[in-house]
Amino acid sequence: MQQGKGNTAELMNEKDQNYFETFGITMQQMRERMAMLGLGEADHQLCEHLHARVLRPHAKDIIDQFYRLLLQSNEVTKVLKNHHSLEKLKRTQTQYLNSLGRNFDQQPYIESRLRIGMAHVYAGVGLSVYMCAYRILQQLIIDLIPMHSSKRDILIAYILKITFFDMSLAIECYHNAQIFGLVGALKKIQHKAERLEVKLQKDGLTRLLTRESIFALIKRKQEENEAVHILMSDLDHFKQVNDQYGHLVGDEVLREVARRIKHATRENDAVGRFGGEEFIIVIAQTTNEKACIIAERIRTEMENEPIIINELELTITISIGLALLEPHADMSQILDKADQLMYKAKTAGRNRVEVDDVVRS
Ligand code: GH3
Ligand code: MG
Ligand code: MG
Repeated sequence: MQQGKGNTAELMNEKDQNYFETFGITMQQMRERMAMLGLGEADHQLCEHLHARVLRPHAKDIIDQFYRLLLQSNEVTKVLKNHHSLEKLKRTQTQYLNSLGRNFDQQPYIESRLRIGMAHVYAGVGLSVYMCAYRILQQLIIDLIPMHSSKRDILIAYILKITFFDMSLAIECYHNAQIFGLVGALKKIQHKAERLEVKLQKDGLTRLLTRESIFALIKRKQEENEAVHILMSDLDHFKQVNDQYGHLVGDEVLREVARRIKHATRENDAVGRFGGEEFIIVIAQTTNEKACIIAERIRTEMENEPIIINELELTITISIGLALLEPHADMSQILDKADQLMYKAKTAGRNRVEVDDVVRS
């Protein structure tokens, strides 16, 4: 089965879905299966004979009789309670009959059988009911072969072989749909667990994400092929705050800075404490322009209003470096770049945002 796909709805929605490839079926495998069932060259001729003498003249009768018999079962009526799906299945079944066995040894035939099988999966027809329906269909076709026909025995054998081959393909559909469903459910649980883990990993002082969880989050974005903007920031002359007012005041400032950064960013952005008074902000799904606006908003949130702690009024400023991390770029290289830009902001006088050229253009 292809990697990366992981839920049944996805499997069903795609109109141009190639089930043969998606399910990882190979022609070699199919040839072996045909050989096992005894399907061979001679069966092409029998197929044409069956279509000309039985299927084409009686297609409508077969379908009508088929559904009459099927609808005697409660299991079937439950599934087909809506008329729309019955009509749709009748159409699918007619297509099925018209193409039964035609070029059975070619990939398009197998693909068409998988498509029909998937239509039954979508319609909610259970596999066991589906198998019983095949038995009904076999008998309906067999009963229409004239008793006196010299080919009767070999035609019956052919009908059994080809319908068993088709049934084996239907089983592939149910099997794969179930696996896809399970993989999808597993992925959802895994995603939830990861989110929860990230939520739990908060920095004790500021309640922002830890450095590790920010790294994990960035990695996940890369895996999901999402570009993100990275903001590296560092408070200006923060050592002086500690030296002048003590560490406890410094800690209060850090808490307030964290609150302001959260306020300046959006729900979907992630804010982490990278080190002592360094913060990293990951901005998802945005344009370069908006990323610059957010960076500037963080800067002004600090500059514009002093932080008040007890009687103290402290104006704290922040220096920021902004870089873009494309999904396939090297994460540590870009983090480094954002860091260098932040230092550039420091040397250029602090209380500034330095933006990478790629982001500015
Ligand atoms: P610059 O503008 O160049 O960044 O100057 P700075 O004084 O901010 O220099 P630097 O970034 O190197 O200083 C970091 C200071 O942050 C050193 C340390 O006293 C303080 N610090 C780091 N972690 C904490 C913390 O958890 N609580 C408090 N109160 N202070 C911290
Ligand atoms: Mg620092
Ligand atoms: Mg600093």
